[in-house]
Amino acid sequence: MKIFQGKSVFGGIAIGRISIYKKNENEVSLVKVDDPEEEIKRYESAKEKAILQLQKLYNKALVEVGEQNAAIFEVHQMMLEDDDYNDSVENIIRSQSANAEYAVSKTADNLADMFASMDDAYMRERAADVRDISNRILGILAGNENGLENAKEPVILIAEDLAPSETVQMDKNMVLSFVTIKGSTNSHTAILARTMAIPSLVSTKMPLDDSFDGMIGIVDGNEGVIYVDPDKETFDYMKVKAAEEREKKALLESLKGKENVTLDGQKIMLYANIGNIKDLALVRQNDASGIGLFRSEFIYLERDTFPTEEEQFEIYKTVAETMAGKRVIIRTLDIGADKKCPYFGLDPEENPAMGLRAIRICLTRPEIFKTQLRALFRASAYGKIAIMYPMIISVEEIDKIKAIADEVKAELDKENIPHGDPEQGIMIETPASVIMSDELAKKVDFFSIGTNDLTQYTLAIDRQNDKLDEFYNAHHPAVLRMIRMVVENSHKAGIWTGICGELGADPTLTQEFLAMGVDELSVSPGSILPLRRIIRETDVEKYKKSR
Ligand code: PEP
Ligand code: MG
Repeated sequence: MKIFQGKSVFGGIAIGRISIYKKNENEVSLVKVDDPEEEIKRYESAKEKAILQLQKLYNKALVEVGEQNAAIFEVHQMMLEDDDYNDSVENIIRSQSANAEYAVSKTADNLADMFASMDDAYMRERAADVRDISNRILGILAGNENGLENAKEPVILIAEDLAPSETVQMDKNMVLSFVTIKGSTNSHTAILARTMAIPSLVSTKMPLDDSFDGMIGIVDGNEGVIYVDPDKETFDYMKVKAAEEREKKALLESLKGKENVTLDGQKIMLYANIGNIKDLALVRQNDASGIGLFRSEFIYLERDTFPTEEEQFEIYKTVAETMAGKRVIIRTLDIGADKKCPYFGLDPEENPAMGLRAIRICLTRPEIFKTQLRALFRASAYGKIAIMYPMIISVEEIDKIKAIADEVKAELDKENIPHGDPEQGIMIETPASVIMSDELAKKVDFFSIGTNDLTQYTLAIDRQNDKLDEFYNAHHPAVLRMIRMVVENSHKAGIWTGICGELGADPTLTQEFLAMGVDELSVSPGSILPLRRIIRETDVEKYKKSR
């Protein structure tokens, strides 16, 4: 048995035969041609075919993985129509009487090297795209118009790297898992693999060894590991784990793709809470309709220094792209209280839960806040990002936040940096925000109730203190009345209210929340399908009469 570690881009377990995938590398050498103009025509015709292929791929991807992820094929079409690319190919053919294959290959090398040497991570990744479009034309020039040999049975596909077009062309039913030796977790291929919900690894430290072809492999996407030719003990253990996963999935599988609608037609949004981009796999596996709470402070907690704007931008962009147009609510950093981050240099406090935390840090240290907002506004150009501010207690805070957000927008405009115009909402997790919710609702796009903190501050029970259990009642009528009040005030102002605290996942309260008119529940991914089942079995009007 051999074990190799990679970076997981999607969780789950795949067991099956390994297929080593090698590209049809077309040997390209310089061959002098008699008639360069004829050769240019040959190139033009191959290019037109490539554009048609890309159009087809775009349409296929549009249906399978959504507009956001399909966009790459439009980008490839545009790259093929780009003057720099075409002028370079034609110039090489004319000036060197070169064959089209050589001109395309040389152009690919030159442009890919140029992109690869750029500072900007996004531009660096375009190097792979230039190679991808060039390989497509080379395949057509060589008479190999498919460019790919699809697997004949469902396999674990191991490749040096996979271009986005290769990933999407493969019949998903034939691929158990993608494992690549190169590739970044932000590459389009990784995004596509996540969207397709296939256990996948990139940057895997293993050789592309032909002798692995046909051997049994196990990909553990949860741990980022591939076992090649596993021993009996590992095989049996992983088989049990895979069977457990299958069983759980099958039970709830029938609910996937179904609406979150009650028997009497009331709809509710079921979103997922995440703290990390790795959780995206679970979000998709469990069919969440969006992300209701991305606890961005974990990005800060994982590091020893402040994450840069660029680092944050990449993370938020990945989430937005992977969710392909579904709403992604990213909460600005909620550092403080139990979430301590030494490099913030905060003074020790008597009572940290009531101290300098969350939005209070952001409003006193606007440079930290602005860096995060810049990253969020920029990433919102890549999907439906919404920004959510934690620990709000007053209307004045919203005014200050909005003024800073407007500054950020103006700065980005001035710098000609593209950005979106994300929805902006707040967490309702302090009693003050509940009481002020009628006023607050006029200022924001949505509310999300953080019942963990709201309960702590309402009942004056420290959420970290397990010695107070006998006084603690998660269903305390004060908290439930507050939720009702917030929902009513939000509806009066024409905005929606969700719950993203743990109470939102309590199945014994789902019917009550529906009766209150709660618009969204954001819960850990594993709770989505069980809640969907309850929602779909509930008659809200009947429930209201029975209580
Ligand atoms: C909450 O307070 O309910 C909440 C969702 O935020 P956190 O648990 O991160 O404080
Ligand atoms: Mg909270």
